[in-house]
Amino acid sequence: MYRKYVPLTLVLVVLLTLLATLGWKTAAATPAICLAESGGEAKEVYLTFDDGPSTVVTGRVLDVLKAENIKATFFIVSDRVCGREEILRRAAREGHTLGVHSATHEYSRIYASEEAFLHDVEKCAGVIEDVAGITPNVYRFPGGGAHPRFSALLSERGYRVIGWNAVCGDEEIPRAEAETLYREAVKTSRGKQPVVLLLHDSANHRATAEALPKIISYYRGQGYEFRQF
Ligand SMILES: [Zn+2]
Repeated sequence: MYRKYVPLTLVLVVLLTLLATLGWKTAAATPAICLAESGGEAKEVYLTFDDGPSTVVTGRVLDVLKAENIKATFFIVSDRVCGREEILRRAAREGHTLGVHSATHEYSRIYASEEAFLHDVEKCAGVIEDVAGITPNVYRFPGGGAHPRFSALLSERGYRVIGWNAVCGDEEIPRAEAETLYREAVKTSRGKQPVVLLLHDSANHRATAEALPKIISYYRGQGYEFRQF
């Protein structure tokens, strides 16, 4: 009497194997990111800015965020802080999260060894603490990627590694204008929950600051809540 179940069982096994394989491939193709805990059904977006501070662009970004009453996350390159201490202090004063992105942003130096990596992290964190009075506990890898060994070192020191799952294209698309950045943010955010959007506020990203109001307006229109790490 069990014989009639054999073909059905075989079909199920094949289906499950296929699903498992496809699922594994999808997971493997996704960049390593540490996303926030999802707030149930609420749509959430995290605006994250890398590579600053810069005088003009970071200032404009802070102006927009203030006008819109939104808190964001800034991953700092500490060698760029000298002479821009007030910009960093302003970001902290206005309630934004400051995270570590490196001291130098020079991959060959940062990732040369575990010692070099930790020295870079501590240097950047030290500048953020000295200048803004904030002890950072979030980190973003320069150049992205997973870096499991370095991630473990960060985790041991209380850092949470933050990736991203959407981009505005301000690094990927050369000389992109604000409208292009807006469209790229919309396109790459589709179907993501929460959205962690990668933007840049270093000196050559004026178009990013220009695109920001429209990007914010899009998420608001879609019912997203703005979050910071
Ligand atoms: Zn960067």
